[in-house]
Amino acid sequence: MAAKILDGNAIARRLRQGIAERVKERAARGLPPPGLAVLLVGDDPGSQIYVRLKRKDCREVGFAEDAWHLPSSITEAELIDLIQQLNADATFNGILVQLPLPEHIDPVRVTESVAAGKDVDGVHPYNMGRLVLREPAIRPCTSKAVMWLLEHTGVPLRGLHATVIGASNHVGRPMGLELLLVGCTVTTVHRFSHHAREDVAHSDIVVSATGKAGLVGADWIKPGAVVIDVGIVAQADGKVRGDVRFDEVVDRAGWITPVPGGVGPMTRVALLDNTLRAAELAKS
Ligand code: NAD
Repeated sequence: MAAKILDGNAIARRLRQGIAERVKERAARGLPPPGLAVLLVGDDPGSQIYVRLKRKDCREVGFAEDAWHLPSSITEAELIDLIQQLNADATFNGILVQLPLPEHIDPVRVTESVAAGKDVDGVHPYNMGRLVLREPAIRPCTSKAVMWLLEHTGVPLRGLHATVIGASNHVGRPMGLELLLVGCTVTTVHRFSHHAREDVAHSDIVVSATGKAGLVGADWIKPGAVVIDVGIVAQADGKVRGDVRFDEVVDRAGWITPVPGGVGPMTRVALLDNTLRAAELAKS
């Protein structure tokens, strides 16, 4: 039987409506709208699209937003100086620095210069540390999005074996921590793993985040497993593909996310939710 499809667009739409309601409730209590500052350095076409979508999402739910489009010649010191001004600006509860940055700018130093309370990407060492210590504050967006999708299945997660494919700082590592937090037994495999396919084949939950189009085939998947595809790989024809060979895995999995229309729209909502949370934390 074909897997049930986790429609990220539809779930994201409902979550956005809930956020818009909470913004209205804040306004009724005399509170300002949450504010997001987006910083884009250089002219990467993909980043420009992401920034446009994130700004549109903000407007849709009633947030204040502004963006700084900075030349790729900006120095690291100038960028950090701007971030520090925004750290001190109460209009903005969240600061998002769109990655990738030009080679001469150290993304770690830039990430760490954002005040932890305004790190709505959830990747500042403070927010990562809180997740490690099982006291999450602002949670990394993509893994938070995946957890929403897993909750949506209604499958009781505690005790299940979950395998994360990919171990990056932004996605794979926080993903493993989120799954541990809900009581899964977690395996992480990565480019150096000798038996990635065998590990995945025992798993009730598979989250793939490698950026290797079509890596995961039906022979990797335990029948009935929940398969979440984080990968987004642009193709020469302008389309995007995920890590998972959807057409074959859909006949074996219990649940599956499409690409596009799965994790991507949910990650954008996680950014909105984090910005609202940052506004609420700032008030308290
Ligand atoms: P990354 O390149 O930083 O990390 C990739 C990880 O995959 C590494 O840990 C690497 O060891 C592992 N890997 C590579 N080849 C592998 C293989 N053959 N077998 C097992 N593991 C392998 O990438 P990232 O930033 O974590 O992003 C991963 C993918 O997720 C990309 O396609 C990116 O565009 C996408 N992404 C999507 C969203 C979303 O919202 N949907 C958000 C962030 C990233």
